[in-house]
Amino acid sequence: MPIYRDAGFELFDAETTKNAFSRETENERIPELYIYSRYRNPTVIAAEEEIMKLEGCRWALLTQSGMSAIDTAVSVFQKAESTRPWLFFSEIYGGTISYTDSVLRKRRGITIQNFYPSGERYDLSEFELVLKDLKPGLVYIEAISNPMLIVTDIEAVIALAHSSGSMVIVDNTFATPLLCKPLDMGADIVVHSATKYFSGHGNITAGVLCGNDTTLMKDSLEYRKYVGHMISPDDAYRLNTQIQTFELRFREQCNNAVMVTEILKKHASVRKVWYPGLKEHPTHPEALKLFGAKGFGAMVTFDFSGGSDQEKKQKRDVFVKAVSDNIKIIPSLGDPRTIMMPVESVWGAKFPEPGIIRLSVGFEDPHKLKEIITKALDKAG
Ligand code: PLP
Repeated sequence: MPIYRDAGFELFDAETTKNAFSRETENERIPELYIYSRYRNPTVIAAEEEIMKLEGCRWALLTQSGMSAIDTAVSVFQKAESTRPWLFFSEIYGGTISYTDSVLRKRRGITIQNFYPSGERYDLSEFELVLKDLKPGLVYIEAISNPMLIVTDIEAVIALAHSSGSMVIVDNTFATPLLCKPLDMGADIVVHSATKYFSGHGNITAGVLCGNDTTLMKDSLEYRKYVGHMISPDDAYRLNTQIQTFELRFREQCNNAVMVTEILKKHASVRKVWYPGLKEHPTHPEALKLFGAKGFGAMVTFDFSGGSDQEKKQKRDVFVKAVSDNIKIIPSLGDPRTIMMPVESVWGAKFPEPGIIRLSVGFEDPHKLKEIITKALDKAG
């Protein structure tokens, strides 16, 4: 695929220029004539078509980050005449939470409500009551939550939200279309941070929003164009190349995650492991319903055994140091190598246990990964 780096495209004569600009207002996904790269670009469209194949949907629009995909998706539902509040499930990416506060609430004046889990899962009968009471214009959820990996029956969430007249956006970054396809379950728009599993090498930031409805596509295209959220042709090229190995990579990452879970579960240094594939995970039944036999993702969260909070944190610190040549603290996920985040350092002390680690498991050699983690756990004692 060539990289069309041009900002503007040749339009040859006055008549062609006039036609190109007048058709541009129709916001077709593929224009008859390319005008300007912020509107549409052939390299970007090639990458978008790869994502359409994966999500099995009618359109996909790439943006320069996951956040700009989220901004585009929510903005097409923001109608000047509507004052209905929006409901965001609470256990979502922290950047999205901050965006709802600093952009949607503070700057756009939208009333934002959060729906919190009861214990370690969302209670959908409570959700139904909230819907009746609040009548939100929009419901926003992630298929697998961050960082405790709560899986919610999004099919039920979508049906309940639609029956109360709310539109639904699902962030499918953690689950990916290999585990579930929320658009097939009726979601209005699906968003991804393509920085993560789709590009999969930690070398670009990118986002994508996908859907089936033509009006939503046209509105999203218009918003991306005028706000300038378009991805660069170079990043689209890289994504287009790297996404070709997505299925292979993600399957391997899920397999490695199962292997890592088994090591962690057996080791005396570890108190608890959160992985939706484990029978004891509070939302294992939802994960089975949603993902079937396809896998349970490549994120694994765990903490350390020990008497005092201090002891648990010490074990965490020994572990972090012992793996640091191979497993680094990097605030991202979906990279080729396993990377990690100390949970409290990012999400604060809202979790019951100190010293929790979130691993994004990579697709490195499983034997080496096993050795690295086992040795570090032995050291942590
Ligand atoms: N959604 C999820 C689930 C994420 O984890 C992230 C980033 O970590 C984003 C969205 C935002 O994506 P980006 O960093 O590409 O803007």
